[in-house]
Amino acid sequence: EEPEPEPEEYLFKIVIVGDSAVGKSNLLSRYAQDEFKPNSKATIGVEFQTQSMVIDGKDVKAQIWDTAGQERFRAVTSAYYRGAVGALLVYDITRSSSFDSVGRWLHELSAHSDTSITKMLVGNKCDLEDDRAVSVEQGRRLAEAEGLFFTETSALGSTNVKTAFETVIKEIYSGIR
Ligand code: GDP
Ligand code: MG
Repeated sequence: EEPEPEPEEYLFKIVIVGDSAVGKSNLLSRYAQDEFKPNSKATIGVEFQTQSMVIDGKDVKAQIWDTAGQERFRAVTSAYYRGAVGALLVYDITRSSSFDSVGRWLHELSAHSDTSITKMLVGNKCDLEDDRAVSVEQGRRLAEAEGLFFTETSALGSTNVKTAFETVIKEIYSGIR
């Protein structure tokens, strides 16, 4: 008798980068646990969270890595990027300096990861419209120039968070088939 075929499984490593306090950890906790932590401190010990979705009837797992605050010291190590096939580059729409840093994070990514990595530019905290310092158009233009997907999100209000992660996961999946 023929053995049952193994169900196909996929596991993609995705990293989240961006300046300190742009909301990286809250985007991940919103996506993986549907939680927002207003006074979150860098979590020591937890390196990644795994979240599953079904595409084409296949179980696709994303192992999403969050920095433990090392970005504050510009000390994100190459181990963090190793094997990543997707990345979210996050800035805070109320803080121009975090948008100006995107170029540096792109450079970090290209130095430590494969060129085919799927990248999404994420303007977070879009709930803070009154404090906006980076226009949607600026984000869109940068994304176009650098060949990135783009969205604005709010980890606080749950806006576009799931879509941001799932767009990256679907793109990676379609690229390997
Ligand atoms: P990280 O350093 O990039 O991981 O940022 P955190 O996730 O720790 O968030 C930094 C601060 O921004 C915290 O005080 C969060 O409560 C706040 N924050 C994160 N995401 C949002 C958001 O979408 N909207 C608002 N208003 N605040 C947010
Ligand atoms: Mg964090």
